[in-house]
Amino acid sequence: MNLSEAYSIFGLNKSATDEEIKKQYKKLTRTYHPDINKDPNAETKFKEINNAYEVLQKRNEKKPVFNFVNNFEDEDFEENFEEPQPIFFKRKISFKEAIYGTTIKLEYDRNVGCQSCNGDGFSKKNNGCFSCNGTGTVITRGNNVISSTTCNSCKGKVDIESCKSCNGSGSYSKKTTISVKVPPGIESGNVLSLGGMGNFGKKASHAFIRFFGPNYYYTDAFLQIEYDKDENIKMLDKNIVISTNIDLLTALKGGKTNVTLFDETIEVPIKEKTSNKDIYSIPKKGIGNDGSLIVEFIVNYPKDVKNIISLLENELPATN
Ligand SMILES: [Zn+2]
Ligand SMILES: [Zn+2]
Repeated sequence: MNLSEAYSIFGLNKSATDEEIKKQYKKLTRTYHPDINKDPNAETKFKEINNAYEVLQKRNEKKPVFNFVNNFEDEDFEENFEEPQPIFFKRKISFKEAIYGTTIKLEYDRNVGCQSCNGDGFSKKNNGCFSCNGTGTVITRGNNVISSTTCNSCKGKVDIESCKSCNGSGSYSKKTTISVKVPPGIESGNVLSLGGMGNFGKKASHAFIRFFGPNYYYTDAFLQIEYDKDENIKMLDKNIVISTNIDLLTALKGGKTNVTLFDETIEVPIKEKTSNKDIYSIPKKGIGNDGSLIVEFIVNYPKDVKNIISLLENELPATN
């Protein structure tokens, strides 16, 4: 949800104060609280209001925390406050890659901050004044207060020109390549967060640049992983579970069988008198080669058991 959507859910505009937002939040949550409002859509609306409130509370976060006395009189440039967007990716991997982990290479274009102008989009022509180092502004720092005043010596006469490196936008599009490690055992649909790998966004007022470094930040990027499961192979905590069919005779007298784990064939011993759903586990062969490979035996009973029953009745008379 972006900021303007949040405002519209609250029925307020951008000039709303913190106080007005808080008041409206109380009013809306009282109206749509699912305990009070029996409308079937009330719960959705209630969640939406809470999301919007979260977004609205964060609206001031990018501003510096200290007071700033701004005395710029000649702000003849426009600041671009368009909200930068995160970048979303979706990639399909194989089930084997999901179990053992993999690395995904992402190649994409994103907006990065211009280093010539610190992301501001303009540069100031030095006016040769020694009092303000040609910036036109004198900045004084006090207790938690930083004030900038127009330089008395040159009367703040500074020419602002558009930055030549970025044509005044403060950013430019750059090809970005990153390798993302997908952890073993990831669930299909999970989203990996790639902090700061999204787009350029402007930070604060331009006067801070010289003191606080780059005037920009980056949004996050997100990578959603999807894959098709194999019906025969299940993930259980750190273990891989495979079921395998064995016949009754082998279950009784023991033996061995082969199970297939992706491109690997593994021989598994079967103990004498193995019951249905008994397991055999092989350590260090589970998810990401941690955990265990658990082989579950499914005993197949013969279709026609008449002969076996008559044989058993002689050997093992029923006790009840
Ligand atoms: Zn000056
Ligand atoms: Zn620039």
